[in-house]
Amino acid sequence: MTAVEVRRERRGGAAEIAARVIAVAAIAIPTTATPALAQESWKQGVKYTIEARLEEDAETLRARARFTYLNRSPETLDRLFFHQYLNAFRPNSTWARSGQRPTPDFQHLAEPDQAFERLLAVRALAAGAGGSDIVSRPLRWSYPGTPDSTVVEIPLLDPLEPGEEVTLQLDWVARPSTLCRRQCRGGRQYDFAQWYPRIAPFDEDGWEAHALYPQGEFYGSFGSYDVMLDLAADQVVGATGVVLSGDPGWGVEPTQQDFYGDRPGAEQRLGLLQISPSPGRKRVRFYAEDVHHFAWTTSPDYIHEGGEIAPADGRDRPIELHVLYRPGDEDQWADGQALERMTFALEFLEDRFGPFLWPQLSNVHRLEGGGTEFPMMTMNGGASPGLIMHETSHQYAHGIFANNEWKEAWLDEGFATFLTNWAFEDRAPGIWRQSRDRMAETEAGGFAKPISTASELFESFGRYNYMAYSRGSFVFQMLRGLVGEQTFRAILREYYDRWALHHVTEASFRTTAEDVSGKNLDWFFKQWLHATATLDYAIGKVEQERTARGWRTRVEVRRAGDAWMPVTLRVGGEDRRLESRDRSQTVEFDTAERPTEALLDPDGFILDSSPANDRAEIPPPGLEDALDAPRPIEAFDSVWIEELTWMEVRDLLAAGTTTAIIPTGGIEQNGPYVATGKHNHVLESTCPAIARELGNALCAPII
Ligand SMILES: [Zn+2]
Repeated sequence: MTAVEVRRERRGGAAEIAARVIAVAAIAIPTTATPALAQESWKQGVKYTIEARLEEDAETLRARARFTYLNRSPETLDRLFFHQYLNAFRPNSTWARSGQRPTPDFQHLAEPDQAFERLLAVRALAAGAGGSDIVSRPLRWSYPGTPDSTVVEIPLLDPLEPGEEVTLQLDWVARPSTLCRRQCRGGRQYDFAQWYPRIAPFDEDGWEAHALYPQGEFYGSFGSYDVMLDLAADQVVGATGVVLSGDPGWGVEPTQQDFYGDRPGAEQRLGLLQISPSPGRKRVRFYAEDVHHFAWTTSPDYIHEGGEIAPADGRDRPIELHVLYRPGDEDQWADGQALERMTFALEFLEDRFGPFLWPQLSNVHRLEGGGTEFPMMTMNGGASPGLIMHETSHQYAHGIFANNEWKEAWLDEGFATFLTNWAFEDRAPGIWRQSRDRMAETEAGGFAKPISTASELFESFGRYNYMAYSRGSFVFQMLRGLVGEQTFRAILREYYDRWALHHVTEASFRTTAEDVSGKNLDWFFKQWLHATATLDYAIGKVEQERTARGWRTRVEVRRAGDAWMPVTLRVGGEDRRLESRDRSQTVEFDTAERPTEALLDPDGFILDSSPANDRAEIPPPGLEDALDAPRPIEAFDSVWIEELTWMEVRDLLAAGTTTAIIPTGGIEQNGPYVATGKHNHVLESTCPAIARELGNALCAPII
């Protein structure tokens, strides 16, 4: 199925679920197209309808959700797990107790600065006997990881059989911390990276109910979000999804309200909010489908810049772009700079994978530095081209291809790092060699750990970051070098066709790569992901001789370490790809001109552990032999370089001679020598005398 078809089916498919649809409201869960080749057998159905009121006096969000969960798995579920990740940013959470630095110290945060997400009530909803009356029964909840409260467990009243769905109503209050980490509050700005009970993924491995750690960020279930925000009238807001109604404060009309057709339906009232907003307040309704998270941010100070990317191959609608930045950082963000970088990034990504599948992308200026990705949104502390490229890359590598970042962070962080380097490699030649050199330095300190290691098993965020991001990026770069540019691009497009808007694993990527390239790549993924393999190619002995038509150069290439990759050897402008697994191989080049350099991996496709020995200058022939030659006749006892052979000079230097006196005749005695041959006399007697007196010197006449 082509990307175009995937898209048409997505938009056309306002399908209703077949399971017992309770009469609470129109809670049909939109189905997403299953790409023809997707090997995922099922995907849980998730639908959130949320009302939330930001009460700035209390710095708190009060919210209610109607949450519908369709069990498409073959298992019967007797409980649900949700993540309440705001609870990581307070004392005694797993995160806070990890004591990791340099992540902020949440263990010692005073109460007014802490984050929280506190459930107030959970109820199961079901249709009454009459059909339309709602029967609501309270449910208990508990925190199995106490004192951590980032995972909440809610036992169900009745088992949820395969194909059945359940609807809950959840009430809670939430507040970000003033100490920023991904989420934050400061002044009247709220970065709601987390803010609602987010259903934990249930997949082939069961519940991924996972306390939040500093390492690893996300894994979520795809679903739809219908979110009504009640805010102060002067707030400017950016969020996952499109604006269906209300004024987000942008000063321009949203253009994508009809992206989802009539599927959002009429506004559903949950009873938390009054019929209409109080004076000085407003309501903004956002809607999104096929996303595994919903993030939003608001500040009355935000300056909005909007743009769009015109329809392109396989995409018949524009992509709406939004930038929300704070005053004072205009030099980085304003006048279309951030918009231009988003456009560059999205066009690059669409070219490499396929059409962007969501209606808009918002790039918002968060309180914390760095950046974090969410579906349809990046929260960035700055607007540098590298940061925007990296975070936008996550729209694909994590957003559209939704991997489990706790288990396989390289699959999104390594991928995004790779995509960023790839996007900039034309502007910054040498980017790969440079990043490889930096890695070799780091790894010299015994830093390596298998890239596939689960995020929380890394001892530190730094090590996790290095292995998942930096080294992970080279897995993609090495695969690109291994299969070649064209095949690699075909792999990415096929990966998109098979897996867009689905959960992905190493196996999804590996099998796609194997199918497209026609190669067994098991060894490659094992070697680079599941071991700390090292690879060190080095230039060994080089021989060169004249031939009738020019020069013949023989280059020995040695391989150390337990890993193997094909490598390119460049000599005299000619590239030769070496596929041998021998520890030592000799490669012969015949060239018209004399090559002066042998260079391994000229374009930086291999994670070589000591790049310094990848290059060698080739000295003119004969010199190498001569370097070892003995003097043919016995030497004079002389300090005059002109009377010595260079072999003696070599040996004297080796023995400790450090000075060469260059007599210029500038310091000469006068007197009886003012006669013919004065200079020679002075030089020949004076210089050797000084040299012998110094004991470590030679005389070097000017010729
Ligand atoms: Zn990232």
